[in-house]
Amino acid sequence: MSQTTNFIRQIIDQDIAAGKHGGRVVTRFPPEPNGYLHIGHAKSICLNFGIAEDYGGHCNFRFDDTNPSKENIDYVNSIIEDVRWLGYGQDEPLHASDYFEQLHEFAVELITDGKAFVDSLSPQEIREYRGTLTEPGVNSPYRDRSVEENLDLFSRMKAGEFPDNAHVLRAKIDMGSGNMNMRDPVIYRIKHESHPIAGDKWCIYPLYDFAHGLSDAIEGVTHSLCTMEFEDHRPLYDWFIENVSAPSRPEQTEFSRLSLEYTVLSKRLLTRLVDDGLVDGWDDPRMPTISGLRNRGYTAESIRDFCARIGITKNFNEVEMGVLENTIRQDLDWNAPRTMAVLNPLRLVIEDYPEDKTEMLEAQNHPKRPELGTRQVPFGRIIYIEHEDFQEVPEKKYFRLAPGSEVRLRYAYLVTCTKVIKDEAGNIVEVRCQHDPESRGGVAPDGRKVRGTIHWVSAAHCATARVNLYDRLFAVPNPGVYKDGSFSEIINSQSLIEVKNAKVEPGAANAPPASHFQFERNGYYFLKESAVANKPAIFHRTVALRDTWTKVKR
Ligand code: ATP
Ligand code: MG
Repeated sequence: MSQTTNFIRQIIDQDIAAGKHGGRVVTRFPPEPNGYLHIGHAKSICLNFGIAEDYGGHCNFRFDDTNPSKENIDYVNSIIEDVRWLGYGQDEPLHASDYFEQLHEFAVELITDGKAFVDSLSPQEIREYRGTLTEPGVNSPYRDRSVEENLDLFSRMKAGEFPDNAHVLRAKIDMGSGNMNMRDPVIYRIKHESHPIAGDKWCIYPLYDFAHGLSDAIEGVTHSLCTMEFEDHRPLYDWFIENVSAPSRPEQTEFSRLSLEYTVLSKRLLTRLVDDGLVDGWDDPRMPTISGLRNRGYTAESIRDFCARIGITKNFNEVEMGVLENTIRQDLDWNAPRTMAVLNPLRLVIEDYPEDKTEMLEAQNHPKRPELGTRQVPFGRIIYIEHEDFQEVPEKKYFRLAPGSEVRLRYAYLVTCTKVIKDEAGNIVEVRCQHDPESRGGVAPDGRKVRGTIHWVSAAHCATARVNLYDRLFAVPNPGVYKDGSFSEIINSQSLIEVKNAKVEPGAANAPPASHFQFERNGYYFLKESAVANKPAIFHRTVALRDTWTKVKR
């Protein structure tokens, strides 16, 4: 999959031309296992793995697992599954925690060179001494401890002699720096916590900035691509690499994060949606997570295609949800076979059609792809049509079924409505029709014009299915600005409509799970669970046939 060029690829081209990094290209995708991956991560995955693929290099799939408090194995497993589902990261993943020994040696090296010290201020004092954006910080009174004392304290921190927060190890850089990240950043802290991989071996853990860049260097990463919020961290990234005996010199380049309308892309906010019970877990089909999109019926190809379409720049740019929806619509328009399904069934009885007769009618699986063949759809005297396809008193320009009017039953016959049956409350419960037996296949024998075509399923043969109609989770384009308020107020109340009594062609309900279909005239659907014994099939609506949001927009 070759992507169009972007400024990062241009930098790589120049580096290769200049013989930098020995002409090698090694990237990495470094998730912290503290949540599920979302579509923003897909942007980074496609960029890093895509570049490695196109330049004949390698992309390391590495867990930046240096903070044991927020990590768990469920996150680790979901991340591996999602990256692989997207088509990448088939190697065993790497772990920053595998380098704890080496990172500790780098820290000792900094101490020995007088470039790091053990600080015994409290976390609160450290914050106060740090200064502000407009005022320089103040040196810690412990900053001038001797190398010997620092080595001794650090080894005792490691040996578990002190409680959490009693001391930290800090790099000795510049408390007057205009860049807050350079004001003697903390590089190790005491945390008496066991680690999912390293177990109880450590009670001091490196901080992200220290561990991240040096892990890149240990792995021989050449191009460390990250999002814009790390731009201010780049001097520190470089400082660590320059001040220890790092085995290689990776370079960091930043690009803008994906931001998408009508959703939030931050693990913190997504965690809140899950914890507050506003969605049914991380993989709820309304979530912008990779697993949510997969459950919704997005394909890996469509997500890769979306990432290629949005491109890579340094500019903040909020992508319209319609761009993502159009990508899957296009994919499924081409790839999903057609089927007929009735979500809101109305009984239609063809009075002049024999009661005991069943016909198999030929239907095309795909209007633009004859190579996908045809299927046989059973037809009989009683069928279901959509309630919306009948109006007793038709509005203007209504070409579907109405008393006295003729309509085409797709692939079947032309029928004319002769009677409407209502229940005691006045609800329409059935319509009766007469059919033209000469119009088999839906073609008028005399060439008369019939404008309306509607879909149907045979009552005697169809399967009853459950259909979840998903829509955008939020009712507003910018839910992120409500992050301190309550999400429950801006959730789209129509984001999930459960249809319990849909009638579908038997072939669709019994297809293998994870099949995609276009329900004709309606939308694209994903078969989440096939029908078994007494359990109905469950379909998820991936996306409606047409965009209904652009007209309601702001
Ligand atoms: P979040 O803010 O959602 O918690 P994160 O940046 O903390 O995300 P990480 O697990 O650290 O999540 O991310 C792994 C990689 O994915 C990083 O290189 C990060 O820059 C990238 N990434 C995360 N979110 C986005 C996004 N919205 N767009 C592009 N890349 C992203
Ligand atoms: Mg992060």
